[in-house]
Amino acid sequence: MDPAVPLPAGLVSRLATARHVVALTGAGVSAESGVPTFRDAQTGLWARFRPEELATPEAFEADPAMIWSWYEWRRELMAAAAPNPGHRALAEFETLLPEFTLITQNIDGLHAQAGSRRVIEFHGNLFVNRCLAGCDGPVDVPRPCPEPPRCPRCGAWLRPGVVWFGEAIPIEALQTAKAATDRCEVFLTIGTSALVQPAAGLALRAHDCGAMVAEINIAPTGLNGVAQYRLAAPSGELLPQLLDAVRRRRESRS
Ligand code: NAD
Ligand code: ZN
Repeated sequence: MDPAVPLPAGLVSRLATARHVVALTGAGVSAESGVPTFRDAQTGLWARFRPEELATPEAFEADPAMIWSWYEWRRELMAAAAPNPGHRALAEFETLLPEFTLITQNIDGLHAQAGSRRVIEFHGNLFVNRCLAGCDGPVDVPRPCPEPPRCPRCGAWLRPGVVWFGEAIPIEALQTAKAATDRCEVFLTIGTSALVQPAAGLALRAHDCGAMVAEINIAPTGLNGVAQYRLAAPSGELLPQLLDAVRRRRESRS
C-alpha cells in the first residue's frame, strides 16, 4: 500500500472500542476481484451503452432479450470472480466486533462467498431471478441462459432480482439499513461513488446521528465534509491492514 496513506490513529482507536460499526460497500470493493465498476465502464459489446440506459424497467419492457443478455454477460463475469482480501477482511470484522452491519450495493454475492453471514443486499442479487409480474419467490434458472426465460407459474418474463434505476429498495433492507445507520458509532463507506440514492444518503445520516464517518476510496467523492477520515487506497489492500490494526488494539485492551 502507498506509505503516504497511514492508518489514522483516531479511526483505529474508535474502531477498537466501538460496539456497533456499519460498513457500506459499492462496486469498488469488487474491482480488485476483476468485476468492473459502473463508472469504469462497460467493455466490448456493451461499451456504447450507459448502465443507466440498461438497468431500468422501461429498458427491459422495450427489449427483454437485449437487457437479459446484458445481465447474462454480467452474470458470467461475476460468476468467474472470487472474493478478494477486502471482502475477507469485512467478513472478519463481523466476528471481531460486538455488532457489525454490512450493507452492500453490490449484486455479485462476493461478500457472502467471503464468509460474511449477515449482508444487507440493498440492490438485490444478480443470481436470484424473479417473475416480472410479481409471483412470489425466486425462480431457479439454468446457467448459462442466453434467452430470457418465462415464469413457470404465470408465463410472464423472469427478470434479474436486482433493483433497477427508478425502483424502490426492498423495504426490509431499507429499514434495517437505516436503523443500523442511526445507531452505529462508526460508519465506513467503501468503494462507492456515493452517487446512487438512497444508499448515498446513509453516510450523511450516520454523520448527522453523531457517528464517525470514514471513507475508503481510490478517488475523491462528494462525501467531503461528511467523512472525517478519507483513506485513498484500494480497499483490498487497506481493509486487511485496518482489520489487523483494530484486532491488535482490541487484544491489547483485553
Ligand atoms: P460506482 O461504479 O459508481 O463507483 C465505484 C467507486 O469505487 C468509485 O468511487 C471508485 O473510485 C471506487 N473504487 C474503484 N476501485 C476501487 C478500489 N480498488 N478500492 C476502493 N475504491 C475503489 O459504484 P457504486 O457506488 O457501487 O454505485 C453504482 C451501482 O453499481 C450500484 O447500485 C451497484 O448495484 C452497481 N454495480 C455493482 C457491481 C457489483 O456488484 N460488483 C458492479 C458494478 C455496478
Ligand atoms: Zn409469474
